[in-house]
Amino acid sequence: MSSECIFCKIVKKEVPCYKIYETEKAIAFLDINPVAKAHTLVIPKKHIERIELCDDEILKELMMVVKKVGTVIAKTYHSDFNLVLNNGESAGQLIKHLHFHIIPRVKGDGITIDKQRTLEIDKKELEKIAKEMAEQIRRIFKE
Ligand code: 5GP
Ligand code: ZN
Repeated sequence: MSSECIFCKIVKKEVPCYKIYETEKAIAFLDINPVAKAHTLVIPKKHIERIELCDDEILKELMMVVKKVGTVIAKTYHSDFNLVLNNGESAGQLIKHLHFHIIPRVKGDGITIDKQRTLEIDKKELEKIAKEMAEQIRRIFKE
């Protein structure tokens, strides 16, 4: 854990998030400044800065969560998605805690992954989307 890291604070519940799903080692929540509706971040609960430093077991769990969230995005929102990892500063990593972006995509949405423009979205809407996605994971994966 890093006491300064915002994602560690989210893991420790010191900072709130719109949580979608969690496992023993991973957590998925909505990006607070989404580039698309249901833009989700999947992170390890342990503070790990980059993918090269990530234990294979944790990485496997992260990818299993990515698959679940991706399934919901495809089925519920009828969207494709980009899975983005900004690994290191030159690659655009601002938060130094490993995270995968899942960015829903539909034809003609105009989103460009390296020049991200964020959506105007309010807290109520984020809360509603997180609830809906959590519910869909339980329904689709019968959890
Ligand atoms: P990066 O450029 O490091 O790959 O992206 C960091 C992402 O974290 C950004 O998309 C940003 O909107 C998101 N983010 C930053 N602070 C917070 C926060 O406190 N809560 C949530 N949910 N997302 C955050
Ligand atoms: Zn951290």
